[in-house]
Amino acid sequence: MARELIEWDQGLGGRGLPEPPPEPKRVAQERPQERRQEPHAPVAAPPKGDETARLTVLAESAASCTECGLHTGRNRSVFARGSHTADIVFVGEGPGYHEDQEGSPFVGKAGQLLDKMIAAMGEGAGEVYICNVVKCRPPDNRTPTADEAGACKPFLAGQLEIVAPRVIVALGRCAAEHLGCLDEDARGWRGRWSTYEGIPVMPTYHPAFLLRSPNMKRPVWEDLQEVLRRLGKEPPRRGRSG
Ligand code: SF4
Repeated sequence: MARELIEWDQGLGGRGLPEPPPEPKRVAQERPQERRQEPHAPVAAPPKGDETARLTVLAESAASCTECGLHTGRNRSVFARGSHTADIVFVGEGPGYHEDQEGSPFVGKAGQLLDKMIAAMGEGAGEVYICNVVKCRPPDNRTPTADEAGACKPFLAGQLEIVAPRVIVALGRCAAEHLGCLDEDARGWRGRWSTYEGIPVMPTYHPAFLLRSPNMKRPVWEDLQEVLRRLGKEPPRRGRSG
């Protein structure tokens, strides 16, 4: 089992596990740039049903990852919170100060608003899965560069493959872009269904943006209602996003 987990992790990007892999020369011969070009390449996954172990291996790999420059400024890597059996995965941009300190995503004011939005949907905090495009905090909370997001993509791809949600909610333009939701020919990007690896994706505004622009809560609530309908659920009539 341990060997399978290591091989699977290497297939997702080979970020370095807590214990040295049994065939270190094979890892050294792989060029990182080649791995980044094939983030969705078939991998030797551990047996289905062991999702907790698979996510743990991935999180440990992210904690020791040095694939992009963001590792130099991190206090802690920030992998995810929530349930691996969730129907909905929320994907944000990257950790901020509080997330970097605590090692958990969306724990600051934006996270509190996100939790209110989730509660308004009638979902429990433990019934969703929350993660980010990049697992390490960008300096000054800037948007991750394309290279940083690309380097981190195997982690996000692995999370979405393991959790296999019924719907993904992309929080903010960065997440929408890296989940393939942006259509350059279309005006606007929010509120338009897209797909990622066959999973429906609803892009909407990031909670941090809503803190600055509370008048945008209504369209976000409409997007979340669409998510509930996609899941076959009747949206709460008087739901509010915080
Ligand atoms: S942001 Fe992602 S790719 Fe960059 S060092 Fe952190 S875990 Fe690795």
